[in-house]
Amino acid sequence: MGALGNELQEHVDGDPAIALLCDLIRCRSVTPDDAGCQDIIATRLSELGFECESLPFGEVNNLWARRGDSKPVLCFAGHTDVVPPGSAEEWQSEPFEPDLRDGLLYGRGAADMKSGLAAMIVALERFIGEHPNHKGSLAMLVTSDEEGRARDGTLKVIETLQARDEPIDWCVLGEPSSQSELGDTVRIGRRGSLSGMLTVKGIQGHVAYPHLVDNPIRRFAPVLAELHATQWDNGNEHFPPTSFEVVEVTSSAGAPNVTPADLTARFNFRYSSEWNHERLKKKVIEIFDTHEFEYELKWHLSGEPFLTMPGRLTEVVSQVVTGQTGLTPELSTGGGTSDGRFISPAGTDVVELGPVNASIHKVNEHIKLADMPVLTSMYQRIMELLLT
Ligand SMILES: [Zn+2]
Repeated sequence: MGALGNELQEHVDGDPAIALLCDLIRCRSVTPDDAGCQDIIATRLSELGFECESLPFGEVNNLWARRGDSKPVLCFAGHTDVVPPGSAEEWQSEPFEPDLRDGLLYGRGAADMKSGLAAMIVALERFIGEHPNHKGSLAMLVTSDEEGRARDGTLKVIETLQARDEPIDWCVLGEPSSQSELGDTVRIGRRGSLSGMLTVKGIQGHVAYPHLVDNPIRRFAPVLAELHATQWDNGNEHFPPTSFEVVEVTSSAGAPNVTPADLTARFNFRYSSEWNHERLKKKVIEIFDTHEFEYELKWHLSGEPFLTMPGRLTEVVSQVVTGQTGLTPELSTGGGTSDGRFISPAGTDVVELGPVNASIHKVNEHIKLADMPVLTSMYQRIMELLLT
């Protein structure tokens, strides 16, 4: 692609956060490839006096950067990796070339979450420029493994920090938390996510001889009905009710006159803090045990629920959002999982504050360009309130 359109070039020249966002979008960092983003970030942070440490695990690049060695530690966190662009024909511009149309900046990662990273770095530059001797320490945790397996990213960095006894007091994640306007929603936790892979055993046979077969579909149908009918909980003050969804059921012998030998099903719970994964698994087994069927069950835990209780960090963030936008943010635990699930268990207060998430993971992902300076000011103001 050629030079930037004149209008975008003006914004790039006038706002370093927009310029950095454009540079980051140009890195084709499809998960788990960082594609040079962390080099750009580390260079900027080193110039600010951060000690930058590369913490690679497997094929994943991670960056831990810290400025200062006193407490409290305020950490900005995020990921450089993006989901694949999807169908090229459906994009109205190149996914990895920033494009401005009608006040919206398009590009893969524009919302999730290169805008958050760019705004954080410019906010750090401005804050440190004004307060070089700030209280406590500033840190930045960046991974390229959030959209993929999420095993060699934030999880491993936090394990490393814990092994060194290097705690984080407050963490601001730049994930796109907002729903329709910047700042309308701040995430203070997330539901847990637990997946099950079930195999129901049967006996294959001719449909005309039902006494000689054991049809796993017939076995599973009432189990599924009961799982669907179960009210797992009613949620609580901070969490919506636990949800159960079946995402796949497969069973076939490949011919209309044969019953299948087995059935496989995949399901997922998004669960509130009323449960932990052990108790939820036990409850599922209890339901299974009231039905007669033979099965194998494997589980995958993506993350337990986490919650940052209202306190200094949530107060400061709410106050900053209101100051910058006039909105009173909803403190929410909705949405999918995030790397907050790995940061919070170490005793860190975690909030997620970032741009509008309506276009994330879709074709023509974008943010409102006018939100960039506001987001940058929000992050800067959070530092001023917590560390001066
Ligand atoms: Zn994200």
